[in-house]
Parts: sequence; C-alpha cells; structure tokens
Amino acid sequence: MKLCKLGLIALLAAGIAVIPAGEGSAKNVYPKNVPAVTLNNGMQMPQLGFGTFTLKQDVAVESVKEALRQGYRLIDCAQGYGNEAEVGRAIKESGIPRSEIFVTTKINTNVMREGTVRQSLDESIEKLGGTYIDLVLIHWPVEGKVEETWKIMEEYVRAGKIKAIGVSNFNPHHIDDLLKYATIKPVVNQIEMHPYMTQYDVAAYTVKRGIRPEAWGPLGQGRLGVVDDAVLRSLGEKYGKSPAQIVVRWHLQRKNIVIPRSQNPAHIAENINVFDFKLSGKDMKTIDALNKNQRANPKNDPDNFPW
Ligand code: NAD
Repeated sequence: MKLCKLGLIALLAAGIAVIPAGEGSAKNVYPKNVPAVTLNNGMQMPQLGFGTFTLKQDVAVESVKEALRQGYRLIDCAQGYGNEAEVGRAIKESGIPRSEIFVTTKINTNVMREGTVRQSLDESIEKLGGTYIDLVLIHWPVEGKVEETWKIMEEYVRAGKIKAIGVSNFNPHHIDDLLKYATIKPVVNQIEMHPYMTQYDVAAYTVKRGIRPEAWGPLGQGRLGVVDDAVLRSLGEKYGKSPAQIVVRWHLQRKNIVIPRSQNPAHIAENINVFDFKLSGKDMKTIDALNKNQRANPKNDPDNFPW
C-alpha cells in the first residue's frame, strides 16, 4: 500500500495523470486522457481512435488533421477506403512525430483473392509515410485465403515493416482456424459493435483468446438511428452529454477499443471528450439491453459477405 502511494506520488510529480482506464489501472499516455491498452505483443495502443471510412481526398486530409489537433493518436484506415495517401499526408502535415501516432490499415478482400498481398503492403507502407505501419488487419476472412495472407503478414512483422497484425470481422471459428498455424497471434479483432449489435459472444471469445476486441461502426454507422435512440438521449440528459458521447463511453467501459468517425469538427471533439464522466453499472446494463443483433448493413456477415 505504502509502495503504491509512493509510486502514485512519483507519477504525479512527473506530471503523468492517473485515472481509471480501459485497462483498470493503466496510466494515460495520450492527450485528452485517452488510455493506453496493452496488446498481447506488449505494444501500447490508444483505446480511442479516429475512423476514416468514406472520408476521401481533401475531406480525409482535413478530418484526420482535425482529429490529430483534437488529441486523437490512433487513426484507422484501410486499403479499401482509398485514403491511405491522404492519411499519410495528414500525419506529415500535422507536425506530430510519427512515433506518437498509431496507424491501422487493412488488407482488402480483392488483394487476398488476387494474391497481391505483398505488393499491396509495400504500397500501403509507402502511402502511410514510407517507414512502417503500426497495425495491419485482414479486413474480412476471405475463405481459403486467410492462411497465405497471414503468413505474409508475419514475414512483414519479422522484417520490421509492420509492428503488429490482427484480424477484422472474424467469428470464433475463423479465430480458431488461424490460431492453428499462426506463429504470431492477432492483437485485435475489429468487429461491428454498437448498442444495437453488442456481439458479447464474439467479443468474449476474442478476449478469451488474448485478443483485444475493437469496435467498428461504434455509433451504428449513422444508419440505424443509434444516436437518436430515446434511451440514449435520456441518459445524455442525465450525464450532461450527447447520445454519441454516452455510446463512446459505454464502449470504453466495456473495454472495447473504439474508433468513431466524423468529418464535423464539433463531433470529432465531442467523441474524444468522454473522460470526465463514468456511466453507472445500472446505466451500462440499460444500454446493454438495447441490443437487437442488428447490423448496420445485413450484408456485413463474416460468414457470408458479398465483397
Ligand atoms: P460510426 O459508427 O463511427 O458512425 C459514423 C456516423 O456517425 C457518421 O454519419 C457521423 O457523421 C456520425 N457521427 C459521428 N460522431 C457523431 C456525433 N458526435 N453525434 C452525432 N453523429 C455523429 O461508423 P463507421 O465510420 O462506419 O465506423 C467507424 C470506423 O470503423 C470507420 O470509420 C472505419 O475506420 C472502421 N470500420 C471498419 C470496418 C471493418 O470491416 N473492419 C467496417 C466499417 C468501419
């Protein structure tokens, strides 16, 4: 106890804030009190980041720069979003050292089918600054192509070109298949999660295998009316927060990594200003109960997707 107190005093004296975070007692290392989560390879990753799906050209550059200005240090993009070069440009123009930003991209399904994974990774590295990528994910579990893709990703980790690798849209059986041959374990499984699609079973399975769940479409992709939900609105009034902030906070307390997207500076700011309140256990359960197993798009089924 005495040692703990001394340690705390030392951290405070060094100017390091300590608050309850996604990791329980993890200390904050990112702006705006965004906690760091420790991945199964020992790397640290911001628990809250910025999504870039649908953001193109100048809108992508300006939105990512705004997110970085607001304090986001995790940027999530993908080969399929067609905006890696814009993300790379925004990072460069932000003036923030590359080492302080965590960048995720994803290998596209057509690349896996066509057998052009190596070329695509080289291109992604080039577009994202020409040095390395923090995290590369298999975007979707393309049947018959996951093993060869994973082995190439492992090669890139060994060569120091990618720091961590993970998966996206993997159901438990996809994870089990991969773990049979993987020599490097996935660090995250990025899956659709929001109050109408909580996916507790997949998230719990992911955690059981030592892999961090990461929520995509955390606000329901703006398609399902999640941020207009009456229950979330009334919780927003109770805590003096917007429904979107209630949802982001709910993800954080569920220990999800979460990457909301917006091109509206006010919303970009709102979504990161969620570390000055805590939802009660009862209110967490109220949000849990909104689940309807409803995907933002019914085609987003990891066992049967059309792309
Ligand atoms: P999202 O759930 O983040 O919702 C985005 C929508 O919410 C937009 O319409 C935006 O205008 C609105 N919004 C954002 N902040 C708001 C606020 N404070 N108040 C009101 N409305 C607000 O949807 P998303 O972008 O699809 O998901 C987040 C990120 O996840 C993506 O940008 C992308 O990086 C990633 N993603 C990954 C996959 C995958 O297959 N791995 C699929 C989709 C998205």
